[in-house]
Amino acid sequence: MIDLHSHSIFSDGTDTPEAMALAADACGLTALALTDHDTLAGLDRFMAQQPRVAALLVPGIELSCRFMGRALHMLGLFLRHADPLLATRVESMRIRRLERNQIMVRRLRDRGVAITWEELALEAPTDLISRTHFARVLVRNGAAGSPEDAFRRLIGDDSPCYVPFPELRPSEASAWIREAGGVAVVAHPGRGFPRGFRWDQAMLDLKTQGVQGFEAYYPDYGPLEQRYFLQLAGDLDLVPSGGSDYHGGNKPGQNLGVGRGGLHVPDDLLGRLSALATPARP
Ligand code: AMP
Ligand code: MN
Ligand code: MN
Ligand code: MN
Repeated sequence: MIDLHSHSIFSDGTDTPEAMALAADACGLTALALTDHDTLAGLDRFMAQQPRVAALLVPGIELSCRFMGRALHMLGLFLRHADPLLATRVESMRIRRLERNQIMVRRLRDRGVAITWEELALEAPTDLISRTHFARVLVRNGAAGSPEDAFRRLIGDDSPCYVPFPELRPSEASAWIREAGGVAVVAHPGRGFPRGFRWDQAMLDLKTQGVQGFEAYYPDYGPLEQRYFLQLAGDLDLVPSGGSDYHGGNKPGQNLGVGRGGLHVPDDLLGRLSALATPARP
């Protein structure tokens, strides 16, 4: 069993990279990828644990993109995470996110919702602030009854105080990933897009933009959806991937490896994905 999608305190998870690396063995994983949103900051600490861990630790990222007017997430797996060009590119995401966050705080406050920049900074364990941290502050301040309520009424993708960032095109994200030796994989297709969205057509377009695979295994998928995406990957000659999208305490009940219990990403995908990576020449 492998898990190629997870988050630490360096984006919107609650576990340290070290704890996650060690948990890979405890959970019986053959491989675990750390894929924090728009940052490489946790990867040195994660990869430093490799000598202590039997599971293969995979350096990754989850980049925020826009595609057909909606938010699309792109995973980069097997990155050369110390690559200087990648670092510069990802730094531009930090700035875009910071500006986006400042606009969101203003929008919320303009609507009379209680939230301050200082509260957000205190809420986030590292300097990356995500909507997950917005939701926690909104709940604490009584502006929302639960994180779900905060996303539904205020900060979700179709809510008034959401500000989309950062207009990264899928072609750009896949170039950033592949030029750093990694493999470009669309995260959780089927999420955040309208029902009936033509993923067969969209994935063909994304393939021309450099995408090499997509998640066919994801905790939210039912058996039919999983089967659909596995079939689509075969039809389009793209590699299926998958993972738990673990966020620690920020997504309770969504566990490493098994997701909500029924997830099982088969080991043989690891070799197919890593064969597409271009590691640094020794
Ligand atoms: P951001 O990257 O700051 O825009 O925040 C996006 C993160 O918020 C996602 O990675 C999820 O972890 C979380 N998120 C987005 N939509 C929802 C939702 N409807 N319910 C709970 N969490 C969500
Ligand atoms: Mn997240
Ligand atoms: Mn995502
Ligand atoms: Mn994720």
